[in-house]
Amino acid sequence: MARTFRIGGIHPNANKLSSGDPIVTSPLPSKVQIPISQHIGAPAVPVVKRGDEVKVGSVIAKSGGFVSANIHSSISGKVQKIEDVVDASGYKKTVITIKSDGEDVWEEGIDRTEDIVRDITLSADEIVARINECGIVGMGGATFPTNVKLTPPKGMTPEVVIINGVECEPYLTADHRVMLEKGEQVLIGTAILMKAVGVKRAVIGIEENKPDAIKHLSELVGNYPGIEIQPLKVRYPQGGEKQLIDAVLRRQVKSGQLPISVGAIVQNVGTTLAVYEAVQKNKPLIERVVTVTGKSLQHPANYLVRIGTSISDLISESGGIPEDTAKVISGGPMMGKALVTDDVPTTKGTSGVLLLAKEDTKRKPMRNCIRCAKCVGVCPMGLNPAFLMRDTVFKDWDELEKNHIMDCIECGSCSYTCPADRPLLDHIRQGKQTVGGIIRARK
Ligand code: SF4
Ligand code: SF4
Repeated sequence: MARTFRIGGIHPNANKLSSGDPIVTSPLPSKVQIPISQHIGAPAVPVVKRGDEVKVGSVIAKSGGFVSANIHSSISGKVQKIEDVVDASGYKKTVITIKSDGEDVWEEGIDRTEDIVRDITLSADEIVARINECGIVGMGGATFPTNVKLTPPKGMTPEVVIINGVECEPYLTADHRVMLEKGEQVLIGTAILMKAVGVKRAVIGIEENKPDAIKHLSELVGNYPGIEIQPLKVRYPQGGEKQLIDAVLRRQVKSGQLPISVGAIVQNVGTTLAVYEAVQKNKPLIERVVTVTGKSLQHPANYLVRIGTSISDLISESGGIPEDTAKVISGGPMMGKALVTDDVPTTKGTSGVLLLAKEDTKRKPMRNCIRCAKCVGVCPMGLNPAFLMRDTVFKDWDELEKNHIMDCIECGSCSYTCPADRPLLDHIRQGKQTVGGIIRARK
């Protein structure tokens, strides 16, 4: 029976325009710009210099700490420059630019065949080490280094692996296509994660608006002991870790705690595929599936893209920027970020590129709060968004901390629902930034 999480949630239009479009391999780019910080934690440290020759899969920057990740070249060619450029968020970040030699030469030892490798021969420690070497990070958007997630703090015991196949963000379809086209690899990846953390149970949660993916994985799962497919009612933001854990396990992660505190390790479908490829094929994270979509776009599509490919190239492949475009978003419409320019590289965390038309981005003028409490009713974290916005405006940082502003997952459900069109999330983000800074300084 389908289940869902118990607090809040909304039902935005799905607009899954590209759900029926098979994954297409994007043409090899003539150059890539690869940021050294594509993950949460310390930036990686470049180990190449201008003029160096690299192959696909060569390490070009090494993990800069425990919470960090290796970065690999996604094409073969020559390192052209290492410099600071504006990234998707509008901030300057160091990127390594590689000019392609057009040869697509890969490092030795990477299995590029389509053969599915089912036997898992590496030990748990070797799996975690391989995931670390291959630079795997959470590909659902959080970009937390996967090997760190698989190394629980002392005293915490994993009981179940949860695979996030929810993809509740409107428009995005990359994970849906991965489940349909790489279903068996996702199941082997799940078994690898189970072995890595020593658990006997895994649950793949998929929303009911992807019945073909539920059916496909349910047919395959019989060969994989301990793995269950759990259909979920359609409800945003079910892809949030805490919401998914509640939906699947009926356990609630307390304020400030991690999923492991209730015995759960959550990984996204795309990450699980990357884990399969790293462990069974020795393939570093050098490409990913990206949805390029929008109502006026000529060809919404799901592309297999080399990391570092310019987003403008992907948009051109889909027919170019439509005239009525007002915003280009990296990610989905609810949690994605508007880009200041489309000349930014695809990174490990780029799940989609959305071109929104003017009519979909118009904001109505904000009106006074009518105290209807709709924002409170839809907040999946049980917060009071109206008060959080008010206290941010009045700079009452103590009150904001006391009222758990740091628990906000920035899902945007409150702003979406507010009948007075109050920009709740915009203010809450500002409040979170300041309160987060105060907490860090205190520590
Ligand atoms: S954005 Fe934050 S405050 Fe608003 S509904 Fe989501 S979790 Fe609650
Ligand atoms: S939904 Fe909007 S109008 Fe209603 S209480 Fe919240 S902020 Fe006020």
